[in-house]
Order: sequence, then C-alpha cells, then structure tokens
Amino acid sequence: MDALPDFRVLNPETLDEALAARAQHPDSKPLGGGTDLVVNIRRGILAPSVLIDMNRVKELHAIKVDENSIEIGASVRLTALAQHSDVIAHYPVLAQAAAHIAGPTHRNMGTVGGNLCLDTRCIYYNQSEWWRAANNHCLKTTGSMCHVAPKSRGVCFATYSGDLAPALLTLQAEIDLAGPNGKRTIPLEHLYIGFARQDVPVTETQGDGKFFLSLRPGEIVVAVRAKNTPGLRSAYDKIRIRRSIEYPVAGVAVALKREGDKLTDLRIAFTGTNPRPVLLAGTAELCGGGIDERVIKGLDALVRDQIMPMKTTFTPGHYRRRVAGVLARRLMTRLYES
Ligand SMILES: Cc1cc2nc3c(=O)[nH]c(=O)nc-3n(C[C@H](O)[C@H](O)[C@H](O)COP(=O)(O)OP(=O)(O)OC[C@H]3O[C@@H](n4cnc5c(N)ncnc54)[C@H](O)[C@@H]3O)c2cc1C
Ligand code: SF4
Repeated sequence: MDALPDFRVLNPETLDEALAARAQHPDSKPLGGGTDLVVNIRRGILAPSVLIDMNRVKELHAIKVDENSIEIGASVRLTALAQHSDVIAHYPVLAQAAAHIAGPTHRNMGTVGGNLCLDTRCIYYNQSEWWRAANNHCLKTTGSMCHVAPKSRGVCFATYSGDLAPALLTLQAEIDLAGPNGKRTIPLEHLYIGFARQDVPVTETQGDGKFFLSLRPGEIVVAVRAKNTPGLRSAYDKIRIRRSIEYPVAGVAVALKREGDKLTDLRIAFTGTNPRPVLLAGTAELCGGGIDERVIKGLDALVRDQIMPMKTTFTPGHYRRRVAGVLARRLMTRLYES
C-alpha cells in the first residue's frame, strides 16, 4: 500500500470561513467523508497540499424535509439520509439510493456533497501509481492517450457512478453552490457536463470523464433540494458485482405517476453508464396509456440512444447498457403496478 503524501487539513466552522480557506488555497480540495478523495490521494491520483474539512461547517448539516419539499445540506451523512423516516416516507427513491451506496462504514462517513461530486471511474484510472505508470498513465491524469478509446482525440470516457444523483434527477432537484463570486442555484442536471463529445471543445456546459462537473474555481456544494410531486411513486435499484459493497454496474432511479389506467408522468435516470448521470430524455412521449408493448419498446429505444457505456469497468459496455434497460423496465413496471 502506498503511503499518503503530506497535506494540511483546515477545519472551518462556517461557510464564510470555508470559502475564505478555498480562496486562500486555490489547489485545495473540500473533504467530506474522504471515502473517495483519500483513496485517490493514496493512489497518487491527486496531491492537494490542503484539504478543507466540510464536516464542521454548521450551515451544511441540516435535512429539512416534509411531504412538500426536501433540502439536504452537503455535509449530511449518507446513513442519516438513508434512515430518515420522512425521507423514506416521502422520497423513497432517495432513501433507497443512499442505502445502496458502498457499505455501512462508508455510509457512516460519506456525505451528500462528496457523493454528488464523486470522481468518475475507470479501470485504467482507479489503480495504484505504479500500475498506472506501467501503462504510461492516461489522459485523465498525466498521460497522452485514452486506453479505453485510443482514437478518442483527447476525450476521456471515465464513468460517473454516484448513486444519489440519478435519484435526485428524477425529483428534478436543484443544487445550491457557493463560491468567490457569491451563491448560485442551478438545476442538478446542469452540474454534470460529462457529455464526452469528440467534436466540441470542453466548456462550462460540455465536458467529458475528466471535466465532468460545472463547478467554478473555488466553488463548493452547499445543499441540494427538491419539491415533491403529489402522487409520485419512486424507487432505486442497481446491479453490482458484490451485493454488499460495490459501485453500480448500472444504477436506475424511476419516478412515475399513475392516474387510473394511465401513466401520466415518467422520469428515469441512470448511473454507472456514461461520464454523467443521465436523466433519460423523451419519456413524456411514453405516457398517456398503460404500460404496454409501445412503452416497453419506446423505453428500450431511448436507452439504446442515450446510455453509452464504454469499457471502463470489468463488465463490457453492451452488457451494462442491457442491464440498465432491464432494470429500468422492471422498476417502472413494479411501480406502476404497486
Ligand atoms: C469500497 C468502496 C465502495 C464504494 N461504493 C460506492 C457505491 O456503491 N456508490 C457510490 O455512489 N459511491 C461508492 N463509493 C464512493 C464513496 O464512498 C461515496 O461516493 C461517498 O458518498 C463519497 O462521499 P465522501 O463524503 O466520502 O466524499 P469525499 O471522498 O470526501 O469527496 C469526494 C469528492 O467530492 C468533493 N467534495 C466533498 N464535499 C464537497 C462539497 N461540499 N463541495 C464540493 N466538493 C465536495 C471532494 O473534494 C472530492 O473531490 C465507494 C467507495 C469505496 C471505497
Ligand atoms: S476513459 Fe480513457 S482517459 Fe479516461 S480514465 Fe479511462 S483510460 Fe483514462
């Protein structure tokens, strides 16, 4: 096991102190539970000289939830979210997604902010320094080519695998950010820019597996929030290699409304497939009737068009896409009939 390099940990107690620390140390990284960040530091993937511990920042700890809306601070622990009785009752997709993350000890440490900003993953990236060096690294770090797609012309396809984001996308969540130029709120969907298109340059709205968040320099996540939709049924499930502790081979969140014999609202989001969590576009066209052949075939077509797994994990891309489609179909049918 590699030794950790030297770094300092700062412990701000207010949001203003955290922002000042970020401004003073531009190469710093916010520290949630450290369950991903510290692993990456140990592997020599990152070497920030300063970590800013977000766990004592008072403004980031609240879960405000009732049947109308939910707001979750960035430093809320995953266990607290998964076990909150009002989250379980009114936002089941969110409680279930939180309960599916890693193992109990990770969830006791891991935070909502850290999960939403989880680094993208790839078999050529999440490796020790010596393993990566033996392969001449890759362009997500210091190398010059992508081993997954050698003709990718500078584009990285590392996969976004956080479980909370798809659940929150089906709730049409917004995210509060704070930075040197003040606070802003954006749709959560706009935080994720891993489109990995080879024909467009990286911008604040178009990135890839390396530049996958639209966070501006010095910005931190403050909270995420959503409004409830009366009558919405929702659930989360994922396929993973080990049922106990594992990133998703594919994870799916579904939220839908049924009125009489009609599907009137359908939202489906995926993780573990693309360099961003994907809220499936075009599901409104599947609504209006029951779940029949038209809906099943239509869903399959949307998944085929928008879910693009590459060979970034031990399971092949085409398998992950099929798994994602099957999971989505099962969850949708189960919720509709429940
Ligand atoms: C064995 C193992 C299995 C795992 N399985 C899963 C899994 O199934 N699903 C899953 O989703 N994850 C999984 N993880 C990853 C990780 O445990 C979780 O994603 C966890 O929620 C990360 O949260 P954290 O608070 O520990 O983040 P950290 O490691 O502290 O941070 C992660 C990233 O977020 C940034 N960050 C933290 N807080 C903020 C903030 N407030 N504002 C801006 N940026 C911030 C950090 O700088 C860093 O870049 C696994 C990890 C391990 C080791
Ligand atoms: S997709 Fe390519 S560039 Fe990105 S981490 Fe994997 S090998 Fe590296």
